[in-house]
Amino acid sequence: MTIAAENINKKPITVRHSNLKRCDDSIYRSVCPVCKEGILLVRRDNNTGKITNKDRCLSCGQAFIYEDLPAKAKEAVK
Ligand SMILES: [Zn+2]
Repeated sequence: MTIAAENINKKPITVRHSNLKRCDDSIYRSVCPVCKEGILLVRRDNNTGKITNKDRCLSCGQAFIYEDLPAKAKEAVK
């Protein structure tokens, strides 16, 4: 996959992770709603390993903020 990153300087878009189209069978990977080709992996904090609410499309570079992540344990992402 070539990294075009045409949206890398655009403002983050707030989305609900639960509303995104899943990619493969992963509960976290989603298809980028902007370019429809890139993948959003869901990021983890390098220090704590916890899921963060910020993500970036691997293809178009669009930044996203998840309003429903990190989920609390009992509201785990389906
Ligand atoms: Zn994208």
